[in-house]
Amino acid sequence: MTEINVESNKKQRIENTQTREVEDEHITCTICSEVWTSGGEHCLVSLKCGHLFGKSCIARWITERAQKLGDKKTFCPICMKPARLNDIRIVVPIKLVVKDTAEINLLKKEVEMKKSKICEYQNTLELARLSLNLSKRELKRAQDTLL
Ligand SMILES: [Zn+2]
Ligand SMILES: [Zn+2]
Repeated sequence: MTEINVESNKKQRIENTQTREVEDEHITCTICSEVWTSGGEHCLVSLKCGHLFGKSCIARWITERAQKLGDKKTFCPICMKPARLNDIRIVVPIKLVVKDTAEINLLKKEVEMKKSKICEYQNTLELARLSLNLSKRELKRAQDTLL
């Protein structure tokens, strides 16, 4: 009986560590450890402090605290700074994506340009090589004629 408990405790501990790792990457809701949805109940929202949560989770968190502590004593679960229901702002990541895409497109264009430059240089190099070979052959022929 005791052994089984130890095993399950160990398993529990491992699971906890894994959850913490995911949280460290700041890609999931700190309250429920689930990913954010692009809209609806668990969409991405921020508080005044800038911390991010799923809307339904942080709304529930603040409401529960407000009931226990009063409206004016609610706080962010991460940094403990004051946070009200009114502070919840929906974060629209599309703007970031657009900016990123613009930057990526710019970089892509740059890479394309560099690539075509490399092509040009390669062509020039190839031509130079050919003319070098020609010159070598001519030189050899000239030497043969001399000998
Ligand atoms: Zn959540
Ligand atoms: Zn915070």
